[in-house]
Amino acid sequence: MGKPYIDFGAVKAAVSMTQVLEHYGLTAQMRSTRGGDGLEGPCPIHKGTNRDDFKVTLSKNAWFCHNSACKCGGNHLDLVARMEDCNAHQAALHLDHWFNLGLAGKADAPPPRRDGTSKDAPTQAKSSRRSQSPPAGPSIVAEEPPEEPGCNEPLKFELTNLKTDHAYLTERGLTPETVAEFGLGFCAKGTMSGRIVIPIHNPDRDLVGYVGRWPGSPPEERPKYKLPAGFKKNAEVFNLDRALLEQQGLPLIVVEGFFDVIKLWQQGYHRVVSLMGSSLSPQQEALLIKASDSRPGIILMFDEDDAGRAGREKALIRLSRHLFVRVVPLPQEGAQPDHLTESELQALLD
Ligand SMILES: [Zn+2]
Repeated sequence: MGKPYIDFGAVKAAVSMTQVLEHYGLTAQMRSTRGGDGLEGPCPIHKGTNRDDFKVTLSKNAWFCHNSACKCGGNHLDLVARMEDCNAHQAALHLDHWFNLGLAGKADAPPPRRDGTSKDAPTQAKSSRRSQSPPAGPSIVAEEPPEEPGCNEPLKFELTNLKTDHAYLTERGLTPETVAEFGLGFCAKGTMSGRIVIPIHNPDRDLVGYVGRWPGSPPEERPKYKLPAGFKKNAEVFNLDRALLEQQGLPLIVVEGFFDVIKLWQQGYHRVVSLMGSSLSPQQEALLIKASDSRPGIILMFDEDDAGRAGREKALIRLSRHLFVRVVPLPQEGAQPDHLTESELQALLD
Protein backbone atom coordinates (compact mmCIF):
# COMPACT_ATOMS: atom_id res chain seq x y z
CA MET A 1 0.00 0.00 0.00
CA GLY A 2 1.23 3.49 -0.85
CA LYS A 3 0.11 6.67 0.83
CA PRO A 4 -3.65 7.00 1.27
CA TYR A 5 -5.49 8.74 -1.52
CA ILE A 6 -6.73 12.22 -0.66
CA ASP A 7 -8.83 14.61 -2.72
CA PHE A 8 -6.91 17.91 -2.91
CA GLY A 9 -10.03 19.79 -3.96
CA ALA A 10 -12.01 18.57 -0.94
CA VAL A 11 -9.16 19.48 1.42
CA LYS A 12 -8.82 22.96 -0.09
CA ALA A 13 -12.55 23.53 0.18
CA ALA A 14 -12.63 22.33 3.80
CA VAL A 15 -9.86 24.61 5.09
CA SER A 16 -9.42 28.34 4.57
CA MET A 17 -6.25 30.37 4.14
CA THR A 18 -7.03 32.07 7.46
CA GLN A 19 -7.01 28.70 9.23
CA VAL A 20 -3.67 27.81 7.68
CA LEU A 21 -2.14 31.15 8.69
CA GLU A 22 -3.51 30.74 12.21
CA HIS A 23 -2.13 27.22 12.42
CA TYR A 24 1.33 28.68 11.84
CA GLY A 25 0.68 31.65 14.17
CA LEU A 26 1.27 34.09 11.32
CA THR A 27 -1.77 36.36 11.51
CA ALA A 28 -0.44 38.37 14.47
CA GLN A 29 2.56 39.62 12.50
CA MET A 30 0.55 40.49 9.39
CA ARG A 31 -1.38 43.66 8.64
CA SER A 32 -4.69 43.93 6.91
CA THR A 33 -4.92 45.47 3.42
CA ARG A 34 -7.50 46.00 0.67
CA GLY A 35 -10.44 46.50 2.99
CA GLY A 36 -9.73 43.33 4.95
CA ASP A 37 -9.36 40.84 2.09
CA GLY A 38 -5.59 41.20 1.96
CA LEU A 39 -2.88 40.48 4.50
CA GLU A 40 0.79 41.25 4.21
CA GLY A 41 3.78 40.59 6.39
CA PRO A 42 7.23 39.03 6.54
CA CYS A 43 7.55 35.86 4.50
CA PRO A 44 7.40 32.67 6.59
CA ILE A 45 8.92 30.61 3.77
CA HIS A 46 12.21 32.36 3.21
CA LYS A 47 11.96 33.77 6.77
CA GLY A 48 12.70 37.33 5.72
CA THR A 49 12.04 40.46 7.75
CA ASN A 50 10.61 42.72 5.05
CA ARG A 51 7.03 43.40 6.14
CA ASP A 52 5.52 43.53 2.68
CA ASP A 53 7.18 40.58 0.95
CA PHE A 54 4.43 38.09 1.65
CA LYS A 55 0.95 38.95 0.41
CA VAL A 56 -2.24 37.02 0.92
CA THR A 57 -5.70 37.34 -0.64
CA LEU A 58 -8.06 35.71 1.83
CA SER A 59 -11.11 35.38 -0.42
CA LYS A 60 -9.01 33.53 -3.01
CA ASN A 61 -6.94 31.53 -0.53
CA ALA A 62 -3.94 32.88 -2.43
CA TRP A 63 -0.46 33.98 -1.39
CA PHE A 64 2.60 35.33 -3.08
CA CYS A 65 6.13 36.21 -1.95
CA HIS A 66 7.79 38.67 -4.30
CA ASN A 67 11.18 38.57 -2.61
CA SER A 68 13.85 37.12 -4.91
CA ALA A 69 14.47 34.47 -2.27
CA CYS A 70 11.04 33.01 -3.06
CA LYS A 71 9.40 34.68 -6.05
CA CYS A 72 6.47 32.35 -6.01
CA GLY A 73 2.95 31.97 -4.80
CA GLY A 74 0.01 29.65 -4.81
CA ASN A 75 -2.99 28.55 -2.82
CA HIS A 76 -3.18 27.56 0.85
CA LEU A 77 -2.30 23.94 0.08
CA ASP A 78 0.82 25.15 -1.73
CA LEU A 79 1.69 27.25 1.33
CA VAL A 80 1.60 24.18 3.57
CA ALA A 81 3.75 22.32 1.03
CA ARG A 82 6.34 25.13 1.11
CA MET A 83 6.24 25.46 4.91
CA GLU A 84 6.62 21.70 5.43
CA ASP A 85 8.96 21.26 2.48
CA CYS A 86 6.79 18.48 1.11
CA ASN A 87 4.67 17.78 -1.94
CA ALA A 88 1.01 18.70 -2.37
CA HIS A 89 -0.13 15.19 -1.45
CA GLN A 90 1.69 15.27 1.88
CA ALA A 91 0.45 18.83 2.48
CA ALA A 92 -3.14 17.65 1.99
CA LEU A 93 -2.54 14.82 4.48
CA HIS A 94 -1.12 17.33 7.00
CA LEU A 95 -4.23 19.52 6.68
CA ASP A 96 -6.47 16.48 7.01
CA HIS A 97 -4.71 15.56 10.25
CA TRP A 98 -4.44 19.06 11.77
CA PHE A 99 -8.07 19.96 11.12
CA ASN A 100 -9.53 16.52 11.66
CA LEU A 101 -11.12 16.46 8.22
CA GLY A 102 -11.35 12.69 7.87
CA LEU A 103 -10.76 12.93 4.13
CA ALA A 104 -7.68 10.72 3.81
CA GLY A 105 -8.42 7.39 2.17
CA LYS A 106 -12.04 8.39 1.49
CA ALA A 107 -11.99 7.14 -2.08
CA ASP A 108 -10.39 4.09 -3.64
CA ALA A 109 -9.17 5.82 -6.73
CA PRO A 110 -8.40 9.34 -7.83
CA PRO A 111 -11.08 11.09 -9.87
CA PRO A 112 -10.74 10.85 -13.65
CA ARG A 113 -8.20 13.28 -14.99
CA ARG A 114 -8.83 15.50 -17.92
CA ASP A 115 -6.31 15.84 -20.65
CA GLY A 116 -5.94 19.58 -20.99
CA THR A 117 -2.53 19.40 -22.55
CA SER A 118 -1.50 21.35 -25.57
CA LYS A 119 0.29 19.36 -28.20
CA ASP A 120 3.18 21.74 -27.65
CA ALA A 121 3.31 21.35 -23.90
CA PRO A 122 6.79 20.24 -22.89
CA THR A 123 7.23 16.86 -21.26
CA GLN A 124 9.29 16.61 -18.14
CA ALA A 125 12.35 14.56 -18.97
CA LYS A 126 12.16 12.64 -15.72
CA SER A 127 10.77 13.28 -12.30
CA SER A 128 12.24 11.47 -9.36
CA ARG A 129 9.85 12.79 -6.72
CA ARG A 130 6.45 12.21 -8.26
CA SER A 131 5.93 8.81 -6.77
CA GLN A 132 3.44 9.97 -4.15
CA SER A 133 1.09 11.63 -6.59
CA PRO A 134 -1.61 9.58 -8.25
CA PRO A 135 -0.16 8.05 -11.40
CA ALA A 136 -0.38 10.26 -14.46
CA GLY A 137 1.12 9.94 -17.91
CA PRO A 138 3.80 12.41 -18.84
CA SER A 139 1.53 14.41 -21.10
CA ILE A 140 -1.39 14.63 -18.71
CA VAL A 141 -2.07 17.94 -17.05
CA ALA A 142 -4.54 17.36 -14.25
CA GLU A 143 -6.53 19.75 -12.09
CA GLU A 144 -3.75 19.38 -9.55
CA PRO A 145 -0.41 19.46 -11.32
CA PRO A 146 1.79 16.57 -10.21
CA GLU A 147 4.67 19.00 -10.09
CA GLU A 148 5.66 20.10 -6.61
CA PRO A 149 5.36 23.78 -5.78
CA GLY A 150 8.49 25.80 -5.42
CA CYS A 151 10.99 27.84 -7.37
CA ASN A 152 13.78 27.05 -9.81
CA GLU A 153 17.27 27.91 -8.63
CA PRO A 154 19.39 29.98 -11.03
CA LEU A 155 21.66 27.72 -13.09
CA LYS A 156 25.35 27.72 -12.29
CA PHE A 157 26.30 27.17 -15.93
CA GLU A 158 25.41 28.30 -19.40
CA LEU A 159 25.36 26.15 -22.53
CA THR A 160 28.04 27.25 -24.94
CA ASN A 161 29.02 26.45 -28.54
CA LEU A 162 25.41 26.48 -29.70
CA LYS A 163 24.92 26.43 -33.46
CA THR A 164 22.88 29.59 -34.05
CA ASP A 165 22.46 29.21 -37.83
CA HIS A 166 20.74 25.81 -37.69
CA ALA A 167 18.30 25.29 -40.57
CA TYR A 168 15.35 24.70 -38.22
CA LEU A 169 15.57 28.27 -36.92
CA THR A 170 15.59 29.69 -40.45
CA GLU A 171 12.69 27.42 -41.45
CA ARG A 172 10.63 28.86 -38.61
CA GLY A 173 11.25 32.28 -40.07
CA LEU A 174 13.49 33.61 -37.32
CA THR A 175 16.03 36.32 -38.08
CA PRO A 176 19.61 36.17 -36.73
CA GLU A 177 18.72 39.12 -34.46
CA THR A 178 15.81 37.19 -32.92
CA VAL A 179 17.96 34.07 -32.51
CA ALA A 180 20.58 36.17 -30.71
CA GLU A 181 18.03 38.02 -28.54
CA PHE A 182 16.57 34.74 -27.24
CA GLY A 183 19.91 32.90 -27.07
CA LEU A 184 18.65 30.07 -29.30
CA GLY A 185 20.87 27.45 -30.89
CA PHE A 186 21.38 23.80 -31.70
CA CYS A 187 23.05 21.87 -28.91
CA ALA A 188 25.37 18.99 -29.77
CA LYS A 189 26.36 17.82 -26.29
CA GLY A 190 24.83 16.81 -22.97
CA THR A 191 21.22 16.06 -22.05
CA MET A 192 19.91 18.52 -24.64
CA SER A 193 22.06 17.04 -27.39
CA GLY A 194 20.32 17.01 -30.78
CA ARG A 195 17.87 19.74 -29.80
CA ILE A 196 17.35 23.45 -30.31
CA VAL A 197 17.71 24.94 -26.85
CA ILE A 198 15.69 27.89 -25.56
CA PRO A 199 16.96 29.55 -22.36
CA ILE A 200 14.30 30.24 -19.70
CA HIS A 201 14.76 33.13 -17.25
CA ASN A 202 12.89 34.11 -14.10
CA PRO A 203 11.51 37.65 -13.77
CA ASP A 204 14.85 38.76 -12.26
CA ARG A 205 16.54 37.69 -15.51
CA ASP A 206 18.34 34.75 -13.86
CA LEU A 207 18.79 31.81 -16.20
CA VAL A 208 16.83 28.97 -14.57
CA GLY A 209 16.73 26.31 -17.27
CA TYR A 210 16.77 25.30 -20.90
CA VAL A 211 14.02 23.65 -22.86
CA GLY A 212 15.11 21.54 -25.81
CA ARG A 213 12.96 21.47 -28.97
CA TRP A 214 13.50 18.58 -31.34
CA PRO A 215 14.21 20.20 -34.74
CA GLY A 216 11.27 18.86 -36.73
CA SER A 217 9.09 15.85 -35.91
CA PRO A 218 10.76 13.80 -33.19
CA PRO A 219 11.25 10.04 -33.58
CA GLU A 220 8.70 7.96 -31.68
CA GLU A 221 8.91 8.04 -27.88
CA ARG A 222 10.88 11.26 -27.91
CA PRO A 223 9.06 14.36 -26.71
CA LYS A 224 8.91 17.38 -28.98
CA TYR A 225 9.97 19.51 -26.04
CA LYS A 226 12.23 18.33 -23.25
CA LEU A 227 12.69 20.06 -19.90
CA PRO A 228 15.45 19.27 -17.41
CA ALA A 229 14.56 16.74 -14.69
CA GLY A 230 13.10 18.53 -11.69
CA PHE A 231 12.45 21.76 -13.58
CA LYS A 232 9.36 23.47 -12.18
CA LYS A 233 7.60 24.69 -15.29
CA ASN A 234 4.66 25.86 -13.20
CA ALA A 235 6.88 28.38 -11.42
CA GLU A 236 7.92 30.25 -14.56
CA VAL A 237 6.33 32.37 -17.25
CA PHE A 238 8.52 32.31 -20.34
CA ASN A 239 9.75 35.74 -21.49
CA LEU A 240 8.27 37.59 -18.51
CA ASP A 241 11.74 39.01 -17.82
CA ARG A 242 11.82 40.78 -21.19
CA ALA A 243 8.12 41.65 -21.25
CA LEU A 244 8.44 43.43 -17.91
CA LEU A 245 10.76 45.94 -19.53
CA GLU A 246 8.34 46.76 -22.34
CA GLN A 247 5.45 49.11 -23.01
CA GLN A 248 3.85 49.37 -19.56
CA GLY A 249 0.68 51.01 -20.87
CA LEU A 250 -0.44 47.99 -22.90
CA PRO A 251 -1.82 44.60 -21.79
CA LEU A 252 0.47 41.57 -21.61
CA ILE A 253 -0.22 39.02 -24.34
CA VAL A 254 -0.29 35.46 -22.98
CA VAL A 255 0.32 32.59 -25.43
CA GLU A 256 0.97 28.88 -25.03
CA GLY A 257 4.24 28.20 -26.82
CA PHE A 258 7.87 29.27 -26.91
CA PHE A 259 7.82 29.92 -30.65
CA ASP A 260 4.57 31.89 -30.34
CA VAL A 261 6.46 34.28 -28.05
CA ILE A 262 9.52 34.40 -30.27
CA LYS A 263 7.55 35.05 -33.46
CA LEU A 264 5.35 37.73 -31.88
CA TRP A 265 8.46 39.37 -30.45
CA GLN A 266 10.00 39.43 -33.90
CA GLN A 267 6.82 41.06 -35.25
CA GLY A 268 7.20 43.86 -32.71
CA TYR A 269 4.94 42.56 -29.91
CA HIS A 270 7.47 42.56 -27.08
CA ARG A 271 4.97 42.35 -24.20
CA VAL A 272 4.28 38.67 -24.93
CA VAL A 273 4.73 35.77 -22.50
CA SER A 274 4.11 32.02 -22.60
CA LEU A 275 2.71 29.53 -20.10
CA MET A 276 4.75 26.76 -21.79
CA GLY A 277 1.51 24.83 -22.30
CA SER A 278 -2.20 25.50 -22.15
CA SER A 279 -2.75 25.42 -18.40
CA LEU A 280 -2.17 28.30 -15.99
CA SER A 281 -0.58 27.25 -12.69
CA PRO A 282 -1.30 29.18 -9.46
CA GLN A 283 2.29 30.44 -9.48
CA GLN A 284 2.00 31.62 -13.09
CA GLU A 285 -1.31 33.25 -12.21
CA ALA A 286 0.35 35.16 -9.35
CA LEU A 287 3.26 36.22 -11.58
CA LEU A 288 0.90 37.47 -14.30
CA ILE A 289 -1.24 39.38 -11.81
CA LYS A 290 1.82 41.04 -10.31
CA ALA A 291 3.27 41.83 -13.74
CA SER A 292 -0.01 43.52 -14.68
CA ASP A 293 0.07 46.02 -11.79
CA SER A 294 0.70 48.92 -14.14
CA ARG A 295 -1.02 47.44 -17.18
CA PRO A 296 -4.63 47.60 -18.35
CA GLY A 297 -5.14 43.85 -18.14
CA ILE A 298 -4.17 40.74 -20.05
CA ILE A 299 -4.84 39.31 -23.50
CA LEU A 300 -5.15 35.53 -23.81
CA MET A 301 -4.17 34.27 -27.27
CA PHE A 302 -4.05 30.49 -27.07
CA ASP A 303 -4.03 27.93 -29.86
CA GLU A 304 -7.40 27.49 -31.55
CA ASP A 305 -7.89 23.83 -30.62
CA ASP A 306 -9.61 21.88 -27.83
CA ALA A 307 -6.71 22.12 -25.37
CA GLY A 308 -6.20 25.80 -26.12
CA ARG A 309 -9.87 26.66 -25.71
CA ALA A 310 -10.16 24.68 -22.45
CA GLY A 311 -6.97 26.25 -21.06
CA ARG A 312 -7.93 29.78 -21.97
CA GLU A 313 -11.41 29.37 -20.47
CA LYS A 314 -9.92 28.37 -17.12
CA ALA A 315 -7.28 31.10 -17.28
CA LEU A 316 -9.97 33.65 -18.06
CA ILE A 317 -12.09 32.64 -15.07
CA ARG A 318 -9.15 32.77 -12.67
CA LEU A 319 -7.36 35.86 -13.92
CA SER A 320 -10.51 37.91 -14.35
CA ARG A 321 -11.08 37.81 -10.60
CA HIS A 322 -8.04 40.05 -10.37
CA LEU A 323 -7.79 42.07 -13.55
CA PHE A 324 -9.31 42.75 -16.91
CA VAL A 325 -8.80 39.81 -19.28
CA ARG A 326 -9.49 39.81 -22.99
CA VAL A 327 -9.64 36.58 -24.98
CA VAL A 328 -8.53 36.78 -28.60
CA PRO A 329 -9.79 33.75 -30.52
CA LEU A 330 -7.80 32.91 -33.64
CA PRO A 331 -9.42 33.06 -37.07
CA GLN A 332 -9.50 29.35 -37.90
CA GLU A 333 -9.48 25.94 -36.25
CA GLY A 334 -5.95 24.72 -35.56
CA ALA A 335 -4.40 28.19 -35.80
CA GLN A 336 -1.45 29.11 -33.57
CA PRO A 337 -0.15 32.62 -32.89
CA ASP A 338 3.26 31.90 -34.45
CA HIS A 339 1.64 31.09 -37.80
CA LEU A 340 -0.24 34.39 -38.07
CA THR A 341 0.91 37.03 -40.53
CA GLU A 342 1.76 40.54 -39.45
CA SER A 343 -1.54 41.92 -40.75
CA GLU A 344 -3.56 39.14 -39.07
CA LEU A 345 -1.83 39.95 -35.79
CA GLN A 346 -2.48 43.63 -36.21
CA ALA A 347 -6.17 43.00 -36.87
CA LEU A 348 -6.42 40.89 -33.71
CA LEU A 349 -4.29 42.92 -31.32
CA ASP A 350 -4.29 46.58 -32.35
ZN1 LIG B 1 9.53 34.48 0.62
